[in-house]
Amino acid sequence: MKIAIMGGTFDPIHMGHLVTAEAVRHEFKIDEVLFVPTGNPPHKAGMGITPAEQRYLMTVLATAANAHFNVSRIEIDRKGTTYTIDTIKELRTLYGPDTQLYFITGADAVHEILTWKNSEELLQMCTFVAVTRPGYKKQQLITHIDELRSQYHSSIKFLEVPALAISSSDIRARVKNEAPIKYLVTSAVENYIYKHKLYTHPVSLNKGLITKMS
Ligand code: ATP
Ligand code: MG
Repeated sequence: MKIAIMGGTFDPIHMGHLVTAEAVRHEFKIDEVLFVPTGNPPHKAGMGITPAEQRYLMTVLATAANAHFNVSRIEIDRKGTTYTIDTIKELRTLYGPDTQLYFITGADAVHEILTWKNSEELLQMCTFVAVTRPGYKKQQLITHIDELRSQYHSSIKFLEVPALAISSSDIRARVKNEAPIKYLVTSAVENYIYKHKLYTHPVSLNKGLITKMS
């Protein structure tokens, strides 16, 4: 069995995430892509993030039609700060030693891996798949991957995916400015966002919907 983990805040999940996951699944003959929405992301603390339950539901809505996609509650059900290493260890125990674990990260996240908790151990525990993202610098990314490979003897693959200049922050800004988000997210996610009036108010005015982490 090969499982690929796609972690993210998914606030909201968008077509860039889905295209990336599907490209990785096909390229590495992955049996299941497991989307893992973060609980309380340390690097986004205090920035006003949509409650985990709503981000989880949007992720379920967006992935429901793909038989190879699943969503895990592992991080959102965990108390306290979430670290990737804890998630990978838990999934390793859950799936057993015969399962190959892949961890998908966008080019932006690759440059941050060494700042993550127990990054060295993490790099040994799964195969990383570094995917391209609009705005990334190919040479810089390849150089960094080579460094990580030789320094930590880690398995890091590189995959170019169709460049979709989509980000969750841009989608939030569009909703706030009443610009369309159609075709940037699935229609189920689009409807969910409007139904629950996500991203329409400044964080301070939206205490009921947005959790402040500070
Ligand atoms: P934000 O703008 O709020 O940071 P985001 O669009 O970067 O959101 P995240 O939830 O932070 O989304 O990203 C989860 C993972 O998906 C990260 O590894 C990120 O690099 C990757 N990713 C996000 N957008 C894209 C995209 N358009 N193409 C490829 N990978 C992406
Ligand atoms: Mg991001």
